[in-house]
Order: sequence, then C-alpha cells, then structure tokens
Amino acid sequence: MSIEVRNLSKQFGTFAALRDVSLDVHSGELLALLGPSGSGKTTLLRVIAGLEMADAGQVLFQGEDATGQHVRERQVGFVFQHYALFRNMTIFENVAFGLRVRPKRIRPTDAEIRNRVLGLLKLVQLDWLADRHPHQLSGGQRQRVALARALAVEPKVLLLDEPFGALDAKVRKELRSWLRRLHDEMHITSVFVTHDQEEALEVADRVVVMNEGRIEQIGTPDEVYEQPASPFVYEFLGKVNLFHGRLHRGRAWIDGIEVDAPEHTEAEEVAAVAYVRPHDIDIDRVMHDGGALRAHVFHILAVGPVVRLELIRDDSEDKEPIQVEISKERFRELRLIRGDQVFIKPSRFDLFPSQVH
Ligand code: ADP
Ligand code: MG
Repeated sequence: MSIEVRNLSKQFGTFAALRDVSLDVHSGELLALLGPSGSGKTTLLRVIAGLEMADAGQVLFQGEDATGQHVRERQVGFVFQHYALFRNMTIFENVAFGLRVRPKRIRPTDAEIRNRVLGLLKLVQLDWLADRHPHQLSGGQRQRVALARALAVEPKVLLLDEPFGALDAKVRKELRSWLRRLHDEMHITSVFVTHDQEEALEVADRVVVMNEGRIEQIGTPDEVYEQPASPFVYEFLGKVNLFHGRLHRGRAWIDGIEVDAPEHTEAEEVAAVAYVRPHDIDIDRVMHDGGALRAHVFHILAVGPVVRLELIRDDSEDKEPIQVEISKERFRELRLIRGDQVFIKPSRFDLFPSQVH
C-alpha cells in the first residue's frame, strides 16, 4: 500500500508543527522519519494514522483520499515506545487481542487465530514464551511482542514511533534487524519515527530528514549521508568539519586553498562554509602541491579499524578541533603520535554560502 502525503500543515495554537509537508511512501518500503525532538515526526505519523487531523493537506492511501477515513478503516498497525502490553494477559492473548475483538462476521476461528498468533510468535522467536505474562519478559522481548501484536491483524501499513527508544543500546541494535526482517517477510509498508541517526541509516530504505516542521531532504541512507542537501542535514547526520572561506564565480578559497566550485558559478564574492566529513580529509606529514592546512595532533583514538584523530590548527584563530578519520594502515604508515605536526586538505566537501546574520 502506497501512502501519499500532500501539503500537510498543522498548528498547535500559534506553533507550526508541520509546514507544508509532502512525501510519497512507496508500497513495500521501510521509510524512516528522522529529526531532532520537536521537529514534527510524531505529528506527521499521527496524521498519517488518522489519530490527528491536519489543518490543511491530504493523505492518500493507494491513491485514495483517506482524510475523512477513521483510524480503524485505515488498516494500520502501530508500535509505540510505551505501547504497554496488557499485563493480565499472556503473550499469546496479547498478540491475539486484535483478532478476538473483531465483529463476529470477520473474526477468524479459534484455530485460525491460534495458527496466526503462533506463526507470528515464531517469526519474532518468542513462541516458547507464549504462556508467559509481560512482566516475565525483558524490554526487548516485550517490544517484539508489540511488533507481533501490531502485525496480527494483517495491516497494510505499519507505523512505529520510536519503538525502541526506551531500550538500551545493544537491544536497540538487535531489534533494528528484527524490524527489517519482519518488514520484509510481511510485505508491508512501514513508516518508522526515530531521532537516532544510526538507527535510521541502518534500517530504512529511505530517510526523511525533518527540521522545524519541514522536510529538509528525502533520500536513501547513502544519499542523505553522502550528499546532504543542507547544512542542517550535514550536521545532523554525522560528524562534520566546517572550514570558512569565500566563493567567486565557480572558484572557492578555503583558508588559502583554492578549489573548483562548479555548482557556484553565479556566486560573486560571497562568504562560504565548506562542510567536510572526517573521512574526507587527507592527512600527510609533508606539504604537497596546491597547499594544505597546518595542524598538530591533539588526540588519537585508535580502537577499531578506523583511527580517529583530533587536530588543532596552527594557522587559524579557530581552535575547534578538526575531526579526521583514517584507516589503521594509513595511521601505521604515518606513525603519528600526539603533538606531531601534519598537513591536511579536504578531499571532498560541499560549499554552502554563509548565512547572513
Ligand atoms: P517530534 O515527534 O519530532 O519530537 P512532535 O510532532 O511530537 O515532534 O511535536 C512537534 C511540536 O509540536 C513540539 O514542539 C510539540 O511540543 C508540539 N505539539 C505536539 N503535539 C501537541 C499538542 N497536542 N498540543 C500542543 N503542542 C503539541
Ligand atoms: Mg515524537
């Protein structure tokens, strides 16, 4: 089931929670809504679910306007961070609940319910706990039950709002792969809210980056990480270094290094900032052609395959450490120790004209 969101706006009093939001969720896709707290993710999800009315705009399910449709008619399954299970019911009965409360004419038989519930519990590998009660399960197991419960009624769309938010880091990671597997096996369309960048980038087919009620960018994890559309997305989706300079007719000068800036041929003498990911900085002990920035090694973190360095620039007032990531092999070649003098040069970056304040 595809979902089309068209020009949604929603105010709470004078506060604009959604500002003209449009997006398409493809059938069978797992889409993440990613953004900081207060950016409008939950509001958007609730409008899609039919739990909240927008002031303007439309939601279409499979091309049909669902704006006037009741939550129950939309065939959506929910999983929330604190969607508590029924404490006095067994795990089996929790998952069966949505089927048992159906009107008689569309209610499956007891045998059908049993098959479906046990099938789902197998899928989340909890069939051996079917007779237990929620308090006998760990947090991660309970959220797996919540997933199975949401899927029991065979929804066309699965909506998840920070479903793993209350769990510790290791369990969160496990549940990510659970979610991905369930989504694929159920051939469902899923929209997943999170403020956790890593979670969104790892689990989703596409990521919608939200900020202050607007969509900043929609793309595959690789697109939003490697080609951020705005300074906000750059800063939100990982570590980034800022180098200040200026732009003029397709050329840029970043702290004295001259580079091509073919996307900015129109710019005339404007201040600009280069955004550079830590792994897009070349580092060497000697200066090569074309100039480089002088810095010294301030901190080394050499755990794991990637070595993270913090450098302090020698030729700038800017004492914010520069984050650089290099492979362990390169690190061994360079034989760096704290205090060493190095030369660095951005190998890949995006230039954005500076905001005028
Ligand atoms: P997110 O899920 O990205 O953290 P929300 O969609 O929950 O953001 O909220 C966006 C903004 O709208 C927040 O600043 C929040 O305080 C406000 N908001 C959300 N729901 C209500 C409500 N029912 N009444 C008033 N303000 C609300
Ligand atoms: Mg929220």
